[in-house]
Amino acid sequence: MEFKLSDRLNLLPPYLFVEIDKAKRIATAEGHDIIDLGIGDPDEPTPREIVDSLYKAAQDSKNHHYPLDQGSSIFRERIAGWYRERFGVILDPEKEILPLIGSKEGISHLPLAFINPGDVSLVPDPCYPPYKGGTILAGGTPYLMPLIEENNFLPDLKRIEKQALKKAKIIYINYPNNPTASVCEKGFFEDVAIFAKKYNLIVASDAAYSEVSFDNYRPASFLKVEGGKEMGAEFHSLSKTCNMTGWRVGFACGNEKIIAGLAKVKSNIDSGVFNAVQMAGVTALDIADKHLGRMNKVYQERRDALVDGLNKLGWVITKPKATFYVWARLPKKHKSSIDFAGMVLDKADIIITPGVGFGESGEGYVRFALTVSKERIIEAVNRLKKVI
Ligand SMILES: *Cc1c(COP(=O)(O)O)cnc(C)c1O
Repeated sequence: MEFKLSDRLNLLPPYLFVEIDKAKRIATAEGHDIIDLGIGDPDEPTPREIVDSLYKAAQDSKNHHYPLDQGSSIFRERIAGWYRERFGVILDPEKEILPLIGSKEGISHLPLAFINPGDVSLVPDPCYPPYKGGTILAGGTPYLMPLIEENNFLPDLKRIEKQALKKAKIIYINYPNNPTASVCEKGFFEDVAIFAKKYNLIVASDAAYSEVSFDNYRPASFLKVEGGKEMGAEFHSLSKTCNMTGWRVGFACGNEKIIAGLAKVKSNIDSGVFNAVQMAGVTALDIADKHLGRMNKVYQERRDALVDGLNKLGWVITKPKATFYVWARLPKKHKSSIDFAGMVLDKADIIITPGVGFGESGEGYVRFALTVSKERIIEAVNRLKKVI
């Protein structure tokens, strides 16, 4: 029997990371000591208080039922409190906050609520893949906004073509940024809010890394700027903030119509986040600051070990102010990020991600994830000395 994939599935870009995973498995099976700087998944465990909180909530049979579509009121209230303290933004927990099964879930379902076939989403390139994937699955077309170094990896809004703007419904922005590790000033958020209003666009602000930052830099919220809450929704994740990638919990907040649209999609597809996990989410927001005070120091030390180490080898890279990634232009003589990453795996047993895997404007770069110990990072630099 032949089962033909739907056209929309065939339109999805190939997932490069599957290939990297395969290469890693083969090398590991052959006994190589692989240093994996590929995937952005925190190596440290979820803080003990959060695990305890889940354990306690899981024992309460009240939590064994379907959660509310709109999420637990306790979690929503805690999110509202956190937003007020952290960003100075006031949110109505009834209408402006929606718990998610990880922020990826909300980011990729948003187009189903607002995109018709033929509509366009404006997406940064390179980018976190679900902006494109979610748009394509909804029958829309991603329009790429190149992020280039000369423009500090910000999209140039003036260069977006009028034809695309006519059909555009959503603009995705993501600062601090994955994969480029760049940050933006408040002025950029203000420009985006004005631009969105002019062209009637929903701003989807992916703030997954808002809490991972260094050197006293504190990322702001898009919802804080004038017009932000009118035009946008912001997506947060507890995955990177509190080492909870496997738990699948995040949240969207912002304009109530955007939140309501997303909630309607979700109520037709899933039944929300396990209540006990939402209770653990409350604890995560309670302890986030304390946890991040320590964790961000750890990432900062790793960042310094990697960037200082590579700079000493003559590979000049600037230190990022946020995220646990380092985005590096390929050393001279190298052109293809896939060839370079392949060579580094072959000769140094190190996994890094080729920039082109995040989009064509990522070609010429590679991404290092700072999710192994400082000792392993120093070891990686020593190995790279011999091959670059
Ligand atoms: C990791 C990541 C997310 C998704 O995190 P969830 O685990 O789904 O909450 C979203 N955006 C970016 C840019 C990420 O790197």
